[in-house]
This record gives sequence, C-alpha cells and structure tokens, in this order.
Amino acid sequence: MGDKFKILAADKLAQEGLDYVRSQPDAELESKPGLTEDELSGIVGQYDGLIVRSGAQVTAKVLANPGRLKAIARAGVGVDNIDLTAATAKGILVMNSAEASTITTAEHAFTLMMALARNIGAAYKTMAQGGWDRQKFQGTQLAGKTLGVIGFGRIGQAVAERALAFGMGVVAYDPFFNAATAMDGRVKMFKKAEDLLPHADILTFHVPLNDQTRGMLNGQTFELCRKGVMVVNASRGGVIDEKALMVALETGRCGGAALDVFETEPLEADSPLRSHPRVLVTPHLGASTVEAQRAVSVDAAASLLTYLRGEGIQGAVNAGGLRVDLDPIQERFVQLTRRMACLMSPMITAGVAQVTFELSGEALASSASMIERVGLVGVLGSHMDVPLNIVNVKHVAEQRGIKLRIVTSEEGKLEGPQLAIEVRGGDQPHRIVGRVYHDMRPRVVEIDGYHMDIVPAGAMLLILNQDMPGMVGLVGTEIGEAQVNIADMAISRRDDTALMVLKVDAPVPESLLNRLRHRPGMLKVITVNLPQENGSHED
Ligand code: NAD
Repeated sequence: MGDKFKILAADKLAQEGLDYVRSQPDAELESKPGLTEDELSGIVGQYDGLIVRSGAQVTAKVLANPGRLKAIARAGVGVDNIDLTAATAKGILVMNSAEASTITTAEHAFTLMMALARNIGAAYKTMAQGGWDRQKFQGTQLAGKTLGVIGFGRIGQAVAERALAFGMGVVAYDPFFNAATAMDGRVKMFKKAEDLLPHADILTFHVPLNDQTRGMLNGQTFELCRKGVMVVNASRGGVIDEKALMVALETGRCGGAALDVFETEPLEADSPLRSHPRVLVTPHLGASTVEAQRAVSVDAAASLLTYLRGEGIQGAVNAGGLRVDLDPIQERFVQLTRRMACLMSPMITAGVAQVTFELSGEALASSASMIERVGLVGVLGSHMDVPLNIVNVKHVAEQRGIKLRIVTSEEGKLEGPQLAIEVRGGDQPHRIVGRVYHDMRPRVVEIDGYHMDIVPAGAMLLILNQDMPGMVGLVGTEIGEAQVNIADMAISRRDDTALMVLKVDAPVPESLLNRLRHRPGMLKVITVNLPQENGSHED
C-alpha cells in the first residue's frame, strides 16, 4: 500500500472517474468534496495528485506547502479555480480534460443556434403563459446561411462539421490556423476577424478568454457585421462585450443572441439579457451532459495517473506549449538533451546568466519547448535550491533573471538534426553539441570546442588537462589502481590543452577524483552518472 499513488478527489466526481482510480492497482483514492480552503491546505500535501471540478478552490494558500503533491487534474475545461502561478512556481502540473467535452459543447452551441434561428425560447415562454402567436415567431432557415466560426479549435471545428451537414456555408477565423481553407476546402479561413465579419449571417465563438479575445465582439466590430447578425457564445463570457450587445440588439445591428456564458457568472438576477425577447440564455450548460461528465472524470483521472507514472503529459495547462506527441527521433533528442545538460551542469562553476538552445532541423524546432524545459532542468537542477521540473523550470529561471534563448535554423549542410546548448555566466561560456545518427544512438560531438563522438551514458569522467606527454598513462594508472574499468574513451586536443572523456564501468569514487585533480597538468576533473543506454524509453 505504501508506495501507491495517493489521489484526492476534492469535488464530487462522476462515479466512473472514482471507479477508474479505484480499479488501478497502483493508486488509492479518497473522495472529500466540499472542503474549505483551510481544510484543503491542511491535507493536500499528503496526496500525489488532486482531481477537482470547478468547486474546490486551489488557491496559493492551498499550495503553499504542497508536500508530495505533483499534479492537479481538472475534470472539465476552465481552470479559474486553480491558482496557476502558484502551481507553476511549486512545480505542480495542472491538466484539464478539454477533449472529453468537445462534442457535447459543440452540440450545445448548435442547439443554441437552432433555437435562436427559430425563436424557440421566446415561443415557449409565450406558450407557457397560455399564449399562441404564430406571426411573431417567424424564424430563419439555416440552410444557405453563412456561419462564421471564431476560433477554429476542437469545438469550433465540431460546430463547423455540423453546420456543413445542415447545408450552411462556413467561414472561420483563427490566427493560429495557417491554411486558406479547411475541411477539404469547404471552410474558408480568414486571417483577420474584420475580414470575416461582413460575410457571416450567424457568428459562433469558440475561443479561449485572454487579452486578445476579451471583448472581441464590441461596438466597433459589430459595425463590421451584417445587419441583423445572430450571435452564439458557448465559449467564455467576456468574449462578447455585453453592453455593446444590448446596444446592437436595440439598433437592430444584432438580430438575436444565444448565450451560455457571461461576463459575470452566475448572471446577475436583474441582467437585461435574461428578459430581452431576442436573447436566449442557458446557465453555462455547454459541457453538462451525462456522457461528458463521465468522460471528463475518467479523462482527468487517467491523465493524472499517466503523469504520476511518468508515462506522459496530456492536457497540460501550465507547461507552456509543451508538445508531448513526439516522434522517435524527437524522443531520442529529448533523451540526448537530458544527458547533454547533465554533462554540462558540473562544468558550470560561476552562475548562469543565459542559456541558449540552438536547434538545427525541423524535427527539433517542433519539439523546442520540450527540449528547452528538459535541458534547463538538467543544466540548472543542481545549481538551484528549489526542486526543478519541467513545469516550474522556466518560471524559476525567469524569476532569477536567467535569459533563455531558442535559436532555430534549417539543417543546411548538416545532414540531420543537431542540438547545441550554450551556457553563459560568471566563467567562460560552455557549449555542448549533440546529434542522433541514423542508428538512433545519441552522440555528443563537441564539448567546449573539443570535437569527439561519444554516446553519453553510464558513469563518465571528463578530464581537461595540459596537452603534454604522459597524461593518458597517468590517468590510466590512477583509474586502474582504483579498480575502475574504462569502457570507452575519447580524446580531443585544442590549442595546448586536451579533453579526455572516459566511460567507466562504475561510479568514480571521490578519492580518485581528488587524486587526479592534484596531479600536475590537470585543469579540471568532473564526473557524471547518466542512465545506461538501453532502449528508447530508458529515461
Ligand atoms: P481549443 O483550444 O481547441 O480551441 C480554441 C481555438 O481558439 C484555437 O484553435 C485557438 O487557435 C483559437 N484562438 C486563440 N486565440 C484566438 C483569437 N484571438 N482569435 C481567434 N481564435 C483564437 O479549445 P476548445 O476546446 O475548442 O474550447 C473553446 C472554448 O470553449 C474555450 O474557451 C473553452 O473554455 C470553452 N468551453 C466552454 C464550455 C461550456 O460549458 N460552455 C465547455 C467546453 C469548452
């Protein structure tokens, strides 16, 4: 029992999610919904992972002493109840399970659009009050109309597919979607929202809420829309300026709006949006289906355990653009990065001011964020007083004023990708260069200008010495006398110095290092213990 992952469900989760964790032999679950902030901060450090929905408030206070907590999974999308800065600073990964609610939310947006086009809300209200009015509620046919999808991610695309099936024309705007068309040419993509707006009869929003999207439909942008445009929002409140929407409804610029999300939630009881005859509102129901709640709770539990087991990262929210679906060559480079960084770390003796990752080749450019984070953990890990991992490493480095650079270039004449890590600080700059050849074996090909070709693995000894006769013999004798076997060796000469890189069969004892350091002609002697080279997933 002792070494099982301890998981706390701090909100009421769908039973399937709880059952999933309980069915895993390496996990044990406690379900304690409804804890106060103080209660949660008192116990959170006893768990490896926390699963929440939107109720539990995971504040900076809760995360002040995180103990063994390594990850928080949100069963759902929004992470407004989790203090991401605090989690990042403490190296705690925050994940959401957005994928599981994609279809459900797309269906809700689509339902809102259909209901809006046919005045279902207002007609029902009249019927419920005993009325019968067939004139007032004449609607709009969807087939033949143009739907403008703002934000062409998971949900935006699912809505677009459905609209196409209904015979609608679809145009979309997403600054991060680099193609002129999508869905086999059936969706025209726009690079600027202003260019799309005049084309749409109905607009539907599927963007995150951030500084670029806040209030993106406002008084000015409404002016660019078709007169009578209908608006659907099942993304995040705040994307549409509600005051501007009320004005546009009054002037007829907007023909109707269907909203699932609001600037303030719950929507104020006296909000004019509740009673406007051409506004249809639902209380943030986008992801509220039995199927989605089941799926998000299982997804959250599964991604939490996947991360804790070290098997991968899914749905990371606070690990900045980390790409984890790496192909074999990228995976090899990530392993090489870790090894190169660990080799370099003990060479740094006078602080780190700047770390540069030079990535040559397309394969490396597209895994840059992972390489950067893994490399930084290796380079900085032993020099920092806080435990570093790929979640907090950039945050900690930036806090300490360490400049981080990624330089990408084409492979050029190199024939295959190449990675270089350069560290500048108080002493001379250090630079290490690595490659992965066709045999998929990772190689270090240069350290501080000394050229070599060595697979970095196992216990290694790096010896920088004056280039003078007898040094190899001297090193060999000392190592032999210490009963340490040499497995491989590379020597590289530059100016009047030489770098010996030795792979030895067992970790090098401190006494041997000290003896070597005191021999004449020795400039630097360091040792590093790397994982053995035994397959692609060894570390
Ligand atoms: P996603 O990340 O798959 O897609 C978002 C898309 O928006 C991306 O393609 C991104 O490139 C694009 N985008 C980013 N900035 C943009 C900008 N300035 N202009 C235009 N596009 C921009 O996310 P998703 O899973 O499709 O979710 C979309 C939204 O729906 C999110 O805000 C999410 O929180 C919300 N959501 C709401 C509910 C609900 O209950 N109503 C449920 C699930 C998701």
